[in-house]
Amino acid sequence: MSTPPVLRWPMPGRVLGIDGQLIACPTCGAGEALALGMDLDDHTDAPSYMSCQAGHSWAEERLPRRLGAELLATILDIEPGLLGSLDELRDVHGGTDA
Ligand SMILES: [Zn+2]
Repeated sequence: MSTPPVLRWPMPGRVLGIDGQLIACPTCGAGEALALGMDLDDHTDAPSYMSCQAGHSWAEERLPRRLGAELLATILDIEPGLLGSLDELRDVHGGTDA
C-alpha cells in the first residue's frame, strides 16, 4: 500500500491567498513561517490545512488544495531528490493530520 506524498512545508515569507490577501493564523495572527499541508494527488478546491509556529492549525479556504499540489509538484521539479525523502520530510514536518 502506498501513501500519497503529503508534506507539511514551512512557507518562506508571507503567503497570499487566491484573493490576494495575506494569510495569517486566525488564532494568533502570525503571518510568517506558516506551514502548508500539500498533497500531490489532491487537486480539489477543498481548503488546505495550514499551521503556524505556535502550533495552531486551520483549514484555509483561500488556499485550495490544488495550489498546494502544484506547489509540491514545482518543488519536486526543482529538487527531484526530495521524492525519495518524502517519508523523512513527513516526519520532520509533523505528519499529515491537521
Ligand atoms: Zn497561531
